[in-house]
Amino acid sequence: MPVSDPRAQNPHSSDRATPMDKNFATDFSVRFWGVRGSIPTPGSQTVEYGGNTSCVEMRLGEKRLIFDAGTGLRVLGMDLLKQMPVEAYLFFSHTHWDHIQGFPFFVPAFIKINTFYIYGTIAPDGSTVQHRLNDQMLHPNFPVPLQIMGADLKFVDINVGKPIKISDDIVVETALLNHPGEAVGYRVNWHNYSAAYVSDTEHFPDRLDENVLFLARNADVLIYDATYSDEEYHSEKSSKVGWGHSTWQEAVKVAKAANVKRLVIFHHDPLHNDDYMDKIGEQVAEQFPNSLIAREGLSIQLSSASISSPPVPQKD
Ligand SMILES: [Zn+2]
Ligand SMILES: [Zn+2]
Repeated sequence: MPVSDPRAQNPHSSDRATPMDKNFATDFSVRFWGVRGSIPTPGSQTVEYGGNTSCVEMRLGEKRLIFDAGTGLRVLGMDLLKQMPVEAYLFFSHTHWDHIQGFPFFVPAFIKINTFYIYGTIAPDGSTVQHRLNDQMLHPNFPVPLQIMGADLKFVDINVGKPIKISDDIVVETALLNHPGEAVGYRVNWHNYSAAYVSDTEHFPDRLDENVLFLARNADVLIYDATYSDEEYHSEKSSKVGWGHSTWQEAVKVAKAANVKRLVIFHHDPLHNDDYMDKIGEQVAEQFPNSLIAREGLSIQLSSASISSPPVPQKD
């Protein structure tokens, strides 16, 4: 299986800058628009990996699936304006801020000719995803209510565990994740290919999470919440146990146990700058060579296993 890994290439060579769209939009592709967790982190220390919060796009033939509506969704929205009318399936893992903040700024949702199917779970407090998205756009928190969005928005409450059939050849499976207030993980199946989106989740201390293993089983791509390193997670000064996130070491364990072909480290901690992420990338690759650190603009084409990445701004 021919693979080109952008991490293995010289960031200063001129042939590295593959145009983002070149290997995208055919067959089954995954593209990253926001890779950060918790809060956007713009600035000179995060230009390489990006500062927008969670948003991942998957293209499967003619269909477009979007996972989470962090601030990366705003950028995806600008791109979609060139491709209208747009029909897309938007899946929410949960509605913590870093997964919904891009939604009020998603311009295609304000345009009448577009259609969005919006999937989310009913929260433990009984609220639907429609209710929660509506709430974040109410006065005095936001000036424009959700009702102003002119696109055809079709909200769907997920029954976790029941597969969602998007078309004859696309089935999305779901499972609950271990996260405060609950989150749901997804696995997209298309012909013989599959990609799992597992964010946000915390691993168990004594065993691998069977729900995560279910979603990740033999997946071509596993996108996993690796907010921390084990050292940070178990830090005596500032333990992250119970915060609802996992580590890159746990990501490797899951990827090996579930026979994953490619592991993508995702939902980066706001404190992790580009240099830190570079080091994490090397450490993960030592233990699981077919791994990548998610960065804005990264796209992976599953059907030919090729990867393209935007040019990295040069550091002085
Ligand atoms: Zn999050
Ligand atoms: Zn969360």
